[in-house]
Amino acid sequence: MRKSLIAGNWKMNKTVSEAVDFTNNLKSALRDVQDVEMVICPTFVALSEVSKMLEGSSIKLGAQNMYMQKNGAYTGEISPLMLKEIGCRYVIIGHSERRQYFREDNKSVNAKIKLALKYQLRPILCVGETLSEYQNNQTIDVVKTEITEGLAGIDNEQMSNVAIAYEPIWAIGTGKTATPNDANKVHKIIRKIISDMLDAKTGEKTRIQYGGSVKPDNINALMEESDIDGALVGGASLSVESFIRIVNYDKKD
Ligand code: PEP
Repeated sequence: MRKSLIAGNWKMNKTVSEAVDFTNNLKSALRDVQDVEMVICPTFVALSEVSKMLEGSSIKLGAQNMYMQKNGAYTGEISPLMLKEIGCRYVIIGHSERRQYFREDNKSVNAKIKLALKYQLRPILCVGETLSEYQNNQTIDVVKTEITEGLAGIDNEQMSNVAIAYEPIWAIGTGKTATPNDANKVHKIIRKIISDMLDAKTGEKTRIQYGGSVKPDNINALMEESDIDGALVGGASLSVESFIRIVNYDKKD
């Protein structure tokens, strides 16, 4: 049984004081949640303060990115060692916005995943196709390449600390979502790709989140699917009310 993993990616939103206020509200509203693993991913500058606020809470801290070196002359970058020290447990790797605006490729994604694991950070590897790839029926090819190259050299034990987020790029921040059934078909294929790379048990255990305009009104249907194990939530994680409703997807109002 895979425990649901719901993560909020705040992207470049919320100042440190806003992040602190928000976390305070979220923490008290979600204090009784046990069946879902919850992660929030603030900006780098807010991580330290938010980390202090999360002490004693079951909400875990994640970063939105990291560099693939431990330290050194890499102006403007943040290393996994730094993230680990301030209490991060997760790190998003290869988000489509990083691939699109900062030219991240599968090779750098792979190096980041390996280094994150070395510092006991759990990577959330983002994969997904663009609109034109979707329209040209290339979804599976794209996802397969992103997974095989992104996870090259990762063994079964390491894989137990990796989650995948399937995020069709055409669904991110657009209000469009893949239908639960279509998303689930891709999730099943992702599980098969991982099983083929490692083994069936590892494929079965891997948590695969869906991301792309997840909202309180579509989370239930997504989570009812057999191979959708959680969500990576952008816009709707910026409001306490909607993030709470997403995390409590299985509770009736
Ligand atoms: C994301 O940032 O990963 C994301 C899925 O964003 P949104 O929920 O806003 O589509």
